[in-house]
Amino acid sequence: MKLLEHQAKAQFRQAGIECPMGRLAHTPAEAAEAAREFGRVVVKAQVPIGGRGKAGGVKLAGDEEEARRAAEQILGMDIRGFTVPAVLCEEALDIARELYLGVALDRDRRSLVVMLSFAGGMEIEEVAETSPEKIAKLWPDPFSGPHPFEIRQLALDALAAVGGEGTLPKSKLLAQLVPLVQNLYSLCQRLDATLCEINPLVVTSEQRLIAGDGKVEIDQSAEFRHHDLVKELGDDQEAAASGDDPLEVEAKRRGLTYVHLGGDVGVIGNGAGLVMNTLDLVKQHGGEPANFLDIGGGAKAEVVRNALEMVLLDPAVKGIFVNIFGGITRGDEVANGVIAARDQLGIRVPLVVRMTGTREEEGRAILEQAGIVPAVSAPEAAEKIVQLVAAQGGRR
Ligand code: GDP
Ligand code: MN
Repeated sequence: MKLLEHQAKAQFRQAGIECPMGRLAHTPAEAAEAAREFGRVVVKAQVPIGGRGKAGGVKLAGDEEEARRAAEQILGMDIRGFTVPAVLCEEALDIARELYLGVALDRDRRSLVVMLSFAGGMEIEEVAETSPEKIAKLWPDPFSGPHPFEIRQLALDALAAVGGEGTLPKSKLLAQLVPLVQNLYSLCQRLDATLCEINPLVVTSEQRLIAGDGKVEIDQSAEFRHHDLVKELGDDQEAAASGDDPLEVEAKRRGLTYVHLGGDVGVIGNGAGLVMNTLDLVKQHGGEPANFLDIGGGAKAEVVRNALEMVLLDPAVKGIFVNIFGGITRGDEVANGVIAARDQLGIRVPLVVRMTGTREEEGRAILEQAGIVPAVSAPEAAEKIVQLVAAQGGRR
């Protein structure tokens, strides 16, 4: 779940991180009012996506009239698929330099990483790609958090990476950076965030460090611990505002464990391990899985129908591989369930069903009669579905 900038900054403020004064506006009149209060303002689109500046979603306004006009232009604007419902109007900062500061989950190191760069402002992904040496990194001990000496070293590393040139004296930089990094780090831990980012971290002409932007992403699996924030995003707004994949949002609504992967071979199985193995098999045979979908233990007809329907909501799907490890689940029941679902849903894409367990031969015979391709082994099924999808003009 991605917080909007104004929500992220509310969290920053609570954590003791300085942000510009500002207020949210839903109409041009409200934006003008903010300009009356703060003077020169920056009017910023509140959508859960970066690169708003480049897209024309961030505008400086010198007075009330300019703020009104900027809000008129930005409200309702489409920024890469998100319609702007509100703008944040903040006192404009006097920017001397833009830094980058982020705390992110580093899955390889199984820890949070603190990143600091004097090449801030621009897309940090681009900096990471073209000149990764300009980003200094620190992996603090999660129990102690970052120590002041580590943060000072981080800052010196980041400065050295740009040839030592800064715009404020080192002592001033370090004195502000130490509590700032500590506060951002604890906030990231407290929110179960996978990312807490300030880009740009503005050095003002008065040599103060202020958060010019705010990005917070909360681990989806920890959302239940942050009901207040989830509620704030609003139930129906949640999908749009969170920037989550709409298919995954729908799957969540249906109570299904589904991950959208982007290929064209739909995959359904019972058991997470089995499904992951199935994805590997599809890949091994040259196919691209469209999704991960685990229907859990058993294979009740209703659940199978729900799963098939879900997989087909993805327009890229050109064929479906159903992999059921039966055990005591009866193969003939699974077969009849799949056939009923196919007929009810009017499924036209090829279906390959691999199942094992009680009465599996009967199950396969029933499937074959109904025009569904049965398979005994999973690799055989993977090969078949990849061939069938390729024959449909799908990727191979
Ligand atoms: P993003 O493009 O979605 O990341 O939005 P940002 O909040 O980072 O804004 C983009 C750019 O707008 C920043 O890098 C700044 O250069 C500029 N900007 C943002 N706020 C201010 C401000 O208060 N004053 C000035 N002069 N520029 C700003
Ligand atoms: Mn930014």
